[in-house]
Amino acid sequence: MTKYSPYWWEDQPKYIESNGLPKNTDVVIVGAGFTGLSAAITLAKSGVSVVVFDSEELGFGASTRNGGMLGSGHKVSPQEAEKKYGLEIAGKIHKEANASLAFTTDLIKENNIDCDLQICGRLRTSWLPQDHLSMSENLKKLKAIDDFNSRMIDSSKMLESVKTDLYFGGQFYEDHGSVQPRKFHYGLHQMASNAGAKVFGRMPVKQVTPKSGDKQAGFIVSVGNQSISCKDVLIATNGYTRSSLSTYLSRRILPVPSFIITTDEIGADRVNSLIPGGHCIVETRKRYCYYRPTPCGKRIMIGTRAAMHSMSAEKALPLLRKTLSEIFPELDGVKISHCWTGFTGFSFSMLPNLGCHDGIYSAMGYCGNGVAMAPYLGHMAALKILEPNKKITVFEDTSLQTRPYYFGSPWFLPIASVYFKAYDKFDNYRRRKNLSNIL
Ligand SMILES: Cc1cc2nc3c(=O)[nH]c(=O)nc-3n(C[C@H](O)[C@H](O)[C@H](O)COP(=O)(O)OP(=O)(O)OC[C@H]3O[C@@H](n4cnc5c(N)ncnc54)[C@H](O)[C@@H]3O)c2cc1C
Repeated sequence: MTKYSPYWWEDQPKYIESNGLPKNTDVVIVGAGFTGLSAAITLAKSGVSVVVFDSEELGFGASTRNGGMLGSGHKVSPQEAEKKYGLEIAGKIHKEANASLAFTTDLIKENNIDCDLQICGRLRTSWLPQDHLSMSENLKKLKAIDDFNSRMIDSSKMLESVKTDLYFGGQFYEDHGSVQPRKFHYGLHQMASNAGAKVFGRMPVKQVTPKSGDKQAGFIVSVGNQSISCKDVLIATNGYTRSSLSTYLSRRILPVPSFIITTDEIGADRVNSLIPGGHCIVETRKRYCYYRPTPCGKRIMIGTRAAMHSMSAEKALPLLRKTLSEIFPELDGVKISHCWTGFTGFSFSMLPNLGCHDGIYSAMGYCGNGVAMAPYLGHMAALKILEPNKKITVFEDTSLQTRPYYFGSPWFLPIASVYFKAYDKFDNYRRRKNLSNIL
């Protein structure tokens, strides 16, 4: 029987929560995912008192629901970034994407976080021949900006990396890796607590109010039936940002769901024959499909955007199953042990942002690429709180935008789902045409 909860949540130690809510603290962090905990670690280690609240059980958000693919990418090409922000900022955006991967990999290694880290590499597969060409162009640009440990793979060599004939070549990122995200989150929670941060679950923050109407004087944070006074507030709620907490942010971050399934154990030999090398794989298809072996090497986990709007995991399961057997026909009919969903947070610029609005800091907008970036930006947010007048990161330049039609309730996402489904069909049509030209 398929369980409708994350595979990662099986057999894990329970979080030990803090007790005794203080009346005052230096910093309150809203959201105890990778962003919030990473910020808490840096602040607490600098001698600042920190209280972190999550509205749900600790480990509820995307940080323990994701695919555990550790990489440096974001969804904006160097050309697009250059057009929008100019050459200098575009270069920094791509350098900092690399820096985020190095930061998070080092954080795990240096602190011996037990989270099944594997530097297994990542393969980005071309759904269409033109995808392969544009990846190759992008790679040249990225290599000109920074050291970029990545290479193109010709379509004739693809079977050495993935046993399917679906793709027109790919790009391999050598330094990318994978983690067990729930274990990574647990490790960050332990580090934050050991550094002196107080972390509370099931404590929804309802309101953040400037003290006596003056944000310089600090804030009163209402949480549950209590309140706490602080100098600074960091909102780290990404795809779980709701208008009840911040109308400003909820108008700027779209909660877009992602869905994942995990197969029953099919054996290490079989997994290895399907994904020789055990790396992570992401497609260029608009459906945004990603898959990898689980850390034990005996199962395959595959995620995709079954819909742009919120939908139950039960409803998404057939599409995920179909996608799996489309890639690996021999897995048709294999049992699915787990199926689940979670919210990613999309910014309109498709880039993350470290912002400050009305004196309240925020770090979010990872657009589905937060395993490396969220701990990094959380750390950067902490540095900004410590030195507010200093420019800390290029992601202060990627300001969050809204749209006149968006008031925080994404009514248009079901329409976007239909659009992307149509786009997938169009992609498939283009693909068939390309194939018939080749044959
Ligand atoms: C299914 C899925 C697959 C993904 N796969 C990958 C992947 O393979 N690789 C990758 O790089 N990224 C992936 N991502 C994205 C990545 O997981 C996120 O970008 C990252 O975890 C964001 O971390 P966060 O701490 O900012 O937010 P979250 O981990 O979502 O934490 C936000 C927290 O805020 C809390 N909250 C909300 N409102 C309040 C309130 N009022 N008071 C208190 N707490 C509040 C929520 O309960 C939640 O726990 C995936 C995401 C999903 C959903």
